[in-house]
Amino acid sequence: MVRRSYIGDMMIFRAQQDIPADTELKFGYISGLEELDERQSKLKNYGFDCDCQVCEAEKNTSAKKMKRRMAISGEIVDIFEKGESNSLQTYTKLLDQMEATYVNLPSVEYRRAMITPLTNLITGCLTSGLPLQVIELVHRLLLALGFEIKVTKSSFRVLQWGFLIDEIVVSLVDLCDAYADVNPRLLADAEGVAKKCYLIMCGEDITWEEAYGRDKKKNGTRSGMGMTERTEDLVEGVEGLKFV
Ligand SMILES: [Zn+2]
Repeated sequence: MVRRSYIGDMMIFRAQQDIPADTELKFGYISGLEELDERQSKLKNYGFDCDCQVCEAEKNTSAKKMKRRMAISGEIVDIFEKGESNSLQTYTKLLDQMEATYVNLPSVEYRRAMITPLTNLITGCLTSGLPLQVIELVHRLLLALGFEIKVTKSSFRVLQWGFLIDEIVVSLVDLCDAYADVNPRLLADAEGVAKKCYLIMCGEDITWEEAYGRDKKKNGTRSGMGMTERTEDLVEGVEGLKFV
């Protein structure tokens, strides 16, 4: 997956890996978080039917599985919005059931429907002071996006990069905050990965310190500029939820 930007009439592509000559590059015209039919209808304006691996995988998923996935998605939003449950276990169980509706590997089809629930939970756990759960959930988000990671007591490494979505930088910064609390030895590695994602997505990392640097955070002036703020997708009230 590549990101695209412009300087005047020059188009710039950035990728997270070396690309052999003559490779066809595919990039997102729209946010990857919409439903398949919504995405396809938006893409009609561009005059093509998207046949990227994610759309193809969804088209090949049975109606029964899609229906089940949507039902679970609705159920999660419902209990978030009503504040019905502050039990992480309840949400995790629903996420497991949702994950079971995917038939392809996450490296082929990222778990689109799991992203918003996961980022909501990460925020909730962060504000509830549960760094271990934040770590677990950010790891799960990375796996859902097709990343392969290797975590030991003293290192955090990405073995295979996955799909890059805007929310990933904020979640990796949350991971850094949690590691700073629980295992500071992993902080430098995690921050390196977060910064690399930022570089791929923004095209520069000169503003990294300004946006997400840890010094800035200490002074309470971290701005997160240039990136989509997590709060856009937050279900109302989730920041007030105290998870147990
Ligand atoms: Zn597509």
